[in-house]
Amino acid sequence: MSDARAPRRIVVVGAGQAAAQLAISLRQGGFDGGIVVVGDEPYLPYQRPPLSKKFLTERGQPDSLFLRPADFWRGLDVDMTLGAAARAVDCRRKLVTLSDGRELDYDVLVFATGTRARTLPLRGVALPYVMSLRAIGDVHKLRLALDAAERVVIVGGGYIGLEVAAVMRGEGRAVTVVEAEDRLLKRVTSPVISDFFETLHRRHGVDIRLNARLAEVAGDVRATGVVLASGDVINADVVLLATGAHANDELAREAGLPCDDGIVVDELARASLPDIYAIGDCARLPSRRYRRSLRLESVQNAIDQAKAAAASILGQPVAYDPVPWFWSDQYDVKLQIAGLSDGHDDSAIVGAPASGRFSVEYRQQGRLIAVDAVNEARAHMMARRRIAEETATADAVAYEGAA
Ligand SMILES: Cc1cc2nc3c(=O)[nH]c(=O)nc-3n(C[C@H](O)[C@H](O)[C@H](O)COP(=O)(O)OP(=O)(O)OC[C@H]3O[C@@H](n4cnc5c(N)ncnc54)[C@H](O)[C@@H]3O)c2cc1C
Repeated sequence: MSDARAPRRIVVVGAGQAAAQLAISLRQGGFDGGIVVVGDEPYLPYQRPPLSKKFLTERGQPDSLFLRPADFWRGLDVDMTLGAAARAVDCRRKLVTLSDGRELDYDVLVFATGTRARTLPLRGVALPYVMSLRAIGDVHKLRLALDAAERVVIVGGGYIGLEVAAVMRGEGRAVTVVEAEDRLLKRVTSPVISDFFETLHRRHGVDIRLNARLAEVAGDVRATGVVLASGDVINADVVLLATGAHANDELAREAGLPCDDGIVVDELARASLPDIYAIGDCARLPSRRYRRSLRLESVQNAIDQAKAAAASILGQPVAYDPVPWFWSDQYDVKLQIAGLSDGHDDSAIVGAPASGRFSVEYRQQGRLIAVDAVNEARAHMMARRRIAEETATADAVAYEGAA
């Protein structure tokens, strides 16, 4: 790439899934300037999904999760600046200040800062043995605590909480899941799927408490359990808070970028100031397909939005308007989700939940908007195509500088 308008140095804040894909796509697209990836964790970019699945129980080494080895990044001439957080961004001077005082100037800045675990403003949440799970460092702490634990309370019946519950039952530990809503996975799926997973977990011996609000974590010097709003006390050696995630958008906000639970970007991943982009979990993007803005927490989005940002930076913009997809592994069940089901006005079960293999199709005004597939990989793959077709928007968008 030898265009005079081309950026010379691209700085990426955050060294996760999206940052890795961006660097790869920039090089594949012919970018030969500097790429600096700044990551506050001490690790090369790695995949997070195994953290709540196999990696937790198999005690693997961190490098088994790395998306690419160190040699690969050296070969690509990507400067991985790890163990250093970006602390401030000056958009006018185009400067990023790191936690160790270094200053990096950029022509293009990309936020790929991901999310962090949501905590609860309740008494006792800061006690030792109250944990959360987002990063390799969390697994190390959690693993140590779990090894000495007989009883685990998991607060939150979403994907991560339920995946950890399955792993813990596999290790023979007593598990209670405390969920404030009236069903598991309520934020992301329909009652049919929630019921299926409730039955599955109960069959494996998980104590599930629905409509159960946490009042506080019990304990003085360490967590000894939880107290529910009902007054019930559940004793535990470890309390895992799996209550969702916040976008890491403070740095961008302080730099003057509009944020709304995520850095607001357009369909080319551009933030609201020139030469700044945001990708992956930290970005809020417009969806023509779903007629609203979305902040997605998925590998699919991290990868595909990074590709879109790279294309945009390289002057070959293509609108990014995904059919999101996601998966979750619990025991021997694989749930695969294509599309977004909220807002559906009709749903149909295909197959029999009792057989352990089925899918649920969701429609809105006749259009297929989402399919949840349980142990039905083929139905999932077909669904992604069908949803893409049925939710396609007619309006073509032209971009300045588009090839
Ligand atoms: C336990 C767990 C299980 C998951 N399971 C699945 C799954 O089954 N399927 C699926 O599709 N998705 C899953 N996900 C979600 C998926 O991993 C994320 O969507 C994906 O990692 C997002 O990539 P990202 O690059 O946007 O953010 P991340 O991979 O989170 O990377 C962001 C990085 O930026 C760093 N950072 C933040 N602020 C700064 C700063 N100021 N300076 C420097 N660095 C900074 C963070 O520490 C982090 O290392 C899971 C996530 C978790 C935590």
